[in-house]
Amino acid sequence: MTLSLTVSRSQLAKLQTHLKKGGNREIGGWLVAEQTAPGKFDLVGLTVDLEAGTRDRFDSLPEPHSQQMDRILLENSGRAGRVDYLGEWHSHPTFPPIPSEIDVAAMTDMVENSGPSFAALVIVRLIANASIQATITTFQRGQLPEAGQLIIADEVSEAEFGEGWQLPEH
Ligand SMILES: [Zn+2]
Repeated sequence: MTLSLTVSRSQLAKLQTHLKKGGNREIGGWLVAEQTAPGKFDLVGLTVDLEAGTRDRFDSLPEPHSQQMDRILLENSGRAGRVDYLGEWHSHPTFPPIPSEIDVAAMTDMVENSGPSFAALVIVRLIANASIQATITTFQRGQLPEAGQLIIADEVSEAEFGEGWQLPEH
């Protein structure tokens, strides 16, 4: 089943802010999403570490991300669907936002060996400080990577509601 991830415009705006701060450094973190139907997810938050680059993100300390994720889970505890870690995201500031060989190897290793048996990888690139190009690829134990679908949504009532619970960003 092809996974689809819906991203609201406000989440996209936050991501754009992170990418501007990141500049030419690769930045990234974890995706937190609500499952709304089989294979369908709404992005409810993402963690970001602007200090550490993501070259070694798969080896880096998870503390800042797990703390941010705890906060996101708390803020979204009222949602009907299951809210959980969906995977990883990072930027490719200077090259196309498709998984590199290293990305594929790292994600495959994670689902095959150490981490969850399923995870998505979103790669984003900010173009001319204005628009975002992005891809999503899903990795499942025992299967080949598969391209997923990213849907940019205008604010819907539920997303708006969730947004109201979020702490201001610093
Ligand atoms: Zn990459």
